[in-house]
Amino acid sequence: MYTLNEKAARLTPYAPNTEALPVRLDANESFLPLPDALREKLLRESLSLPLNRYPDPEARALRESFAARHGVPAENVVAGNGSDELISVVLQTFLQKGDAFATVSPDFSMYAFYGYLAECRHVETKTEEDWRIPLDKVIATCNNENVRLLIFSNPCNPTGRGLAREEILRLARSVPALVVVDEAYMDFWDQSVLDVCAEYDNLLVLRTCSKALGLAALRVGFAVGNGTLIGALQAARSPYNVNALSQCAAAAVLREKELCDGAAQALIASKRALEAGLRRIEEETGGFSPVPSCTNFVTVRLQDAAALNDALRAAGVSARYFGGLSAVRITAGTEEENAAVLSAVRDYFAK
Ligand SMILES: *Cc1c(COP(=O)(O)O)cnc(C)c1O
Repeated sequence: MYTLNEKAARLTPYAPNTEALPVRLDANESFLPLPDALREKLLRESLSLPLNRYPDPEARALRESFAARHGVPAENVVAGNGSDELISVVLQTFLQKGDAFATVSPDFSMYAFYGYLAECRHVETKTEEDWRIPLDKVIATCNNENVRLLIFSNPCNPTGRGLAREEILRLARSVPALVVVDEAYMDFWDQSVLDVCAEYDNLLVLRTCSKALGLAALRVGFAVGNGTLIGALQAARSPYNVNALSQCAAAAVLREKELCDGAAQALIASKRALEAGLRRIEEETGGFSPVPSCTNFVTVRLQDAAALNDALRAAGVSARYFGGLSAVRITAGTEEENAAVLSAVRDYFAK
């Protein structure tokens, strides 16, 4: 009889919220649909794609659109089926079985997951009590534990906090490890190291079209780094990892500078409004604390996070509950969606 190996037997599927609630603020997606005219243009273009042929294996047009938007050479960019795929490829490529890799806790759960699949030793550094990253402690851990790769999100999901660009560069200069900075939320902040990462031999940046650009359904992400790192990733990824429809649509959206910039600004404005609203309630009632956010979501910390999450659900709002952190993460939504959140939070604390 065939039995699963120990590694496979211990796996559990990623579990996003699937409850069908009217207000979905649990996955940090954009609330902005693409403009109708652009959707129609994309539809027309996609009708003329030869679907019997494999897509461009190098995703040239897509990488060039991304590169032009960010002012980096396309040679320093690799495209992925979401940045999630790239996290997996990065860990498989730059780690060998038994190597140590480091993360910060709390952070995005997929880093530990793919490191586990790569059969590597996980070294975790806890944040400060206020969820700031203790950079010198991280540097010491990398140096003392023979860490080959450090990966973390900046700004951080789920905390919302960010590390300044100079700190990231100091980190890269202070450790021999490959430093992978997941900038999934950097469209909402201004401390990217994208422009200089290729000057370092140990700095790789991940970006995604799933958040600010509002293309989560397409599954498109990028890794940016020097030629050696990108060459290895190009060789390690699956040959046609980004499908033709996604290549075509994401390239077209990335070329729309005003649309992309405007969308990010609108999401930032919504985040500011949500954060300010939560802060006003907190000043009146106490009982919870919204963490200052550099992203498109606000995470609130409170003793009974489960009860607040239930109250939001009862009001038709799907947020993301983190039991271990005693926190609820709420994506910034439309004005009406934010109003539904604020009214549910106010009612909960007024009880
Ligand atoms: C959402 C998210 C991603 C996943 O992005 P995809 O490109 O949709 O796979 C990666 N990293 C972090 C920290 C995220 O929050």
